[in-house]
Amino acid sequence: MNLPHLEASLNRLLATTSRTTATILDRALSGQDISIDEATTLFEADGSDLLAIMAAADQLRAQTVGDVVTYVINRNINFTNVCVKQCGFCAFSRGHLAEEGYFLPIEEIIRRATEARDLGASEVCIQAGLAPGMDGWHYVKLCRAVKEALPELHIHGFSPEEVLYGSTLTGVTIRDYLLALKDAGVGSLPGTSAEVFVDEVRQRISPGRISIDNWIEVIQTAHEVGIPTTSTIMYGHIESARHRAIHLSVLRDVQKRTGGITEFVPLSFVYEEAPMSHRKALPELRHGASGAEVMKMYAVSRLMLNNWIPNLQVSWVKEGPKLSQIALLAGANDFGGTLINESISTAAGSAYGQLMKPSQFRGLIRQMSRIPAERSTTYQKVRVFETEDNHRDLLDEINDPSQRFGSYQNLIHLKDYRFRDFYKEQRSEKQS
Ligand code: SF4
Repeated sequence: MNLPHLEASLNRLLATTSRTTATILDRALSGQDISIDEATTLFEADGSDLLAIMAAADQLRAQTVGDVVTYVINRNINFTNVCVKQCGFCAFSRGHLAEEGYFLPIEEIIRRATEARDLGASEVCIQAGLAPGMDGWHYVKLCRAVKEALPELHIHGFSPEEVLYGSTLTGVTIRDYLLALKDAGVGSLPGTSAEVFVDEVRQRISPGRISIDNWIEVIQTAHEVGIPTTSTIMYGHIESARHRAIHLSVLRDVQKRTGGITEFVPLSFVYEEAPMSHRKALPELRHGASGAEVMKMYAVSRLMLNNWIPNLQVSWVKEGPKLSQIALLAGANDFGGTLINESISTAAGSAYGQLMKPSQFRGLIRQMSRIPAERSTTYQKVRVFETEDNHRDLLDEINDPSQRFGSYQNLIHLKDYRFRDFYKEQRSEKQS
């Protein structure tokens, strides 16, 4: 890592940066936490100040986590797309009567997890819609079944919204539901369903979504019972610079209290197929974040969270490989997962495919003169690739991922897993 070189470039940039921005960057670089007002100012900065903000974030990244950029070999399993909610940004979900609603049985989930494990995955990421009529203990049962079949796989599963749904359906407290999940083998929770922690924004883009208080309660309680979580934001829709700063501050406060957050993942809004894009009911709705906004999001997140959450993950699914690569110059140090079956962003119109192969991660990382490493879900380094040595993973040999693993479009048209059949079965079981 060439810190003196980075510092020299940064000093040159700071000399041409506006005084206000330079003062805030100085404070962050000297190890102080920047305030909501200061983060708002950075989010609103433009022109060449953006370069100084990125360079300062890059410097903090280098000091805190060094030059290794990590990724995890994992598979997403979104076991149902049927959901009782109707979030305005979600093109993935379907109503319970919809032709395209599916529900994967536990045996199919285990088959997918086994296939992933056989191809070198260390993690399965399990999240889904909130299916009506579902047994409230389904998340626990499915977790137990996967863990019994594949004890070595890490289960990264169930958003705060799903944990709340499980706890509501079963009538047990959030703590008891989390303890049941932990007992069944859940290793960590995705910190999704966060969107933006500002009520007026949530009410407009996803009325009926988990409340901010409930989100914090699930995440903090998970940490208290020993389940780590990630953390996210969804931005680039109707939120302001200040709203983003408030969101980061809420996460920082949670982390100060518990220390249980492993990483922060900014997720930019995918406009194309989102229901709220088609409805045109939000006049100020943006068409997703611009390239400059994406870079500012990464850089300001590093500057605001660096003392508390060391890992900042790029979302290749949202930003594509090229912009993700540049985000490594704006404070990011993690490339996320191989995913294998990406459905949620694909359904919303993202064009970057469902799988990123390990060799692609390593190539993109190396082109930025950084060192690739495979990690576990909780950021233990599994293999550091100081040199490429023509290393190949089994996943690198897959030529047509949609053919081999199935795609979301495929799944919603398959006859085998129709939700309507599952729903009918559940209802008749309840009536008999
Ligand atoms: S984001 Fe989640 S809770 Fe909202 S509609 Fe989609 S699947 Fe349902």
